[in-house]
Amino acid sequence: MSTEASSRAFKQAQELIPGGVNSPVRAFKSVGGTPIFVAGGEGAYLSDIDGNKYVDFVQSWGPLIFGHRDESIEAAVIEAVKHGLSFGAPTLAETKLAKLVVSFFDSIDKVRFVSSGTEAVMSAIRLARGFTNRDDIVKFTGCYHGHSDALLVEAGSGAATFGNPSSLGVPADFTKHTLLAKYNDIQSLKKCFESSNNIACVIIEPIAGNMGLVQADKEFLLELRRLCDANGALLIFDEVMSGFRASINGAESITGVKPDIITLGKVIGGGMPVGAFGARSEIMDMLSPDGPVYQAGTLSGNPIAMAAGYAALSKLQKNSRVMAVLEQRAKSLVQGMQKEAKSCGISMQVDVRGSMFGFFFNEKAVKNFDDASNTDAELFAKFHSLMLREGFYFACSLYETGFISTAISDAMVEETIKASAKIFKEIRNV
Ligand SMILES: *Cc1c(COP(=O)(O)O)cnc(C)c1O
Repeated sequence: MSTEASSRAFKQAQELIPGGVNSPVRAFKSVGGTPIFVAGGEGAYLSDIDGNKYVDFVQSWGPLIFGHRDESIEAAVIEAVKHGLSFGAPTLAETKLAKLVVSFFDSIDKVRFVSSGTEAVMSAIRLARGFTNRDDIVKFTGCYHGHSDALLVEAGSGAATFGNPSSLGVPADFTKHTLLAKYNDIQSLKKCFESSNNIACVIIEPIAGNMGLVQADKEFLLELRRLCDANGALLIFDEVMSGFRASINGAESITGVKPDIITLGKVIGGGMPVGAFGARSEIMDMLSPDGPVYQAGTLSGNPIAMAAGYAALSKLQKNSRVMAVLEQRAKSLVQGMQKEAKSCGISMQVDVRGSMFGFFFNEKAVKNFDDASNTDAELFAKFHSLMLREGFYFACSLYETGFISTAISDAMVEETIKASAKIFKEIRNV
């Protein structure tokens, strides 16, 4: 397999675009090698500019639940394009998608569309602060909520729960209202509430997909909800990734715990840039122009993006069994790979929720970011590059979740397991 054209393209891109990419994870830094440059996608497959084909388990990092070039999404986009690309004025497409989104979630009466997950979360937090008239927020280490200043935090040293900026360029003043707690650890959250009586909201990925796949325990979420209520803080479920991936009706339908605000992205745009945040009317009505919390966007509710999102979500609604089918396939995949790994003496922890799957080269179950960081990164990098050589495109970071699309067949899952058996043997020289 040659990837010469990709290597050349990457060098050229690096001269003009920082790191050669427009989003850092794409650069393959944590697995080594050079990223493949994509020529196109078709169903389950991605093809690169050298003419190689891969089964795609990344799916644009989540959005493409029906695979590449889904017919109904493509047709909806082409139809919408014929009416104009953008107007900056209301269109019927926005109400149509809003109605559909609201119908999926018990906790959402109204929704506002933006153009990315980052924007959705940033706006939801402003809304929570405006609604509660408080400044502090709590996030969990290992959860990712986009790249806005106040959310780029890492744990401070010592006992302090307040976080430090995790990126240069973020003033410490901007993160001093962000408290950090440990995922699945209710004591750490209690400490946050003890150290501040000014907490506007707690934000969490209820099914975390940005430290690998790690799910919040039900008991933990119940207690989290109770603590928020007892302290007058709002609970935000960041479902930018898990929304329409883990379940069609949100994490609330899995856990029974209801959030106050839900943020969405990825699948909601069917492959186009869309984010959204929604809540009950009492909260959403705080937004401008009706309320005092400002939020805006020139391309928000873009008609092409709305059409793609509507096509994707209405297809999910019509095929309500689809998530169970994808979950079964995801289970077969990771359990199959786990078995092959084990027979080569490699420990692998696996997890699945809906169309999301995760695996860690780790001795014990992963419950939080510390556990996730404790995996064999070198082994992962080998796994990644060898699977790529065999024609299987997995996320190029051990902190990312894998995805099954409807275009990935049972036979492809079998092929993937077989390839993994081959490469585990190669890695262990057996
Ligand atoms: C991807 C992601 C975001 C950020 O969305 P962008 O569209 O990349 O800005 C926020 N939260 C979660 C949980 C995500 O997975």
